[in-house]
Amino acid sequence: MAKRDYYEVLGVAKNAGDDELKKAYRKLAMKYHPDRNPDSKDAEEKFKEAKEAYETLSEPAKREAYDRFGHAGVDPNNGFGAGAGAGGMGGFADVFGDIFGDIFGGQRQGGGRSNVYRGADLRYAMEISLEQAANGYTTEIRVPSWESCETCHGSGAKPGTKPKTCHTCGGQGAVRVQQGFFSIQQTCPTCHGTGKVIPEPCVACDGVGRVKKNKTLEVKIPAGIDDGMRIRSSGNGEPGINGGPPGDLYVEIRVKEHDVFQRDGDDLHCEVPISIITAALGGKVQIPTLAGRAEIELPEGTQSGKQFRLRGKGIKGLRASYPGDLYAHVVVETPVRLTDKQKQLLRELDTSLKDPKHSPQTKGWMDRVKDFFQ
Ligand SMILES: [Zn+2]
Ligand SMILES: [Zn+2]
Repeated sequence: MAKRDYYEVLGVAKNAGDDELKKAYRKLAMKYHPDRNPDSKDAEEKFKEAKEAYETLSEPAKREAYDRFGHAGVDPNNGFGAGAGAGGMGGFADVFGDIFGDIFGGQRQGGGRSNVYRGADLRYAMEISLEQAANGYTTEIRVPSWESCETCHGSGAKPGTKPKTCHTCGGQGAVRVQQGFFSIQQTCPTCHGTGKVIPEPCVACDGVGRVKKNKTLEVKIPAGIDDGMRIRSSGNGEPGINGGPPGDLYVEIRVKEHDVFQRDGDDLHCEVPISIITAALGGKVQIPTLAGRAEIELPEGTQSGKQFRLRGKGIKGLRASYPGDLYAHVVVETPVRLTDKQKQLLRELDTSLKDPKHSPQTKGWMDRVKDFFQ
């Protein structure tokens, strides 16, 4: 059955004030209260309907959401976000938090009258080596933490004084402002959403009620992590306001460039310079791997740019079942700073290599160039 409009349920206009809402609700509640209507299913339904309508419209943030989005904006069963609290606003704000952050004052939890907010998330940038990324790495980091102020025991008020209800918002933590055609609810500028003001702030904590310290946190970087990934440390962000849950800490991983290897997903690549002699005659060549040295046997006549795959010598990714491969790219190095004797030897060698069968690539290329110029 489709839900009736809340204003219609209470029999009030869309712009009805708080007093009007209260009066309408009281009237309906008196009429349909289960104590007065024993055994009437219809009265019970009507009573529940009125109660729900009043609870929504009497809460500024919920009313705002209802006015904008209808029942979907306030219904706890609407499926927005799995984390919807009993009050329903939690899940809703999670989804629209980015866009409507101002309206709801961040991620509001639950539907209670107190202004409870989740703490902000923190980010921590961590640079690690390729080896640490490949093998996993456990380290300790220093992160900010907040402890309840010992002087005021967390109240933020100078010992002997008490926080007072904020006059700007009447303790609601939010105020309505007119923007064009819309009346928008915003976090109260006086109390910043807490609903309280502190006439005489505690000196030790500047009235915040907590003091910032540092704590050491052990971070386990899982093997296979890649550049740009992040690890969440649940609950290690900033503390919530008015008892709200703390935010999370995100450790963002940056993998340093490696002198020898370039990573491509789970595969590694490296260049292996060899001499023209080794390239021509073939032979054993040492290849560096993350697990130590390996050796490959180059065949005779290995060309520059040839790549050799070392299966399983790459990195085992976070969710991979097998490690990737290592590709060794052969680069033939031209000898430099030759002595006269060496030059002479090379000239002799050159003469003996004149037969095109020794340089099939050069021959093929020369033929193509010849065709091109004809
Ligand atoms: Zn204090
Ligand atoms: Zn206020």
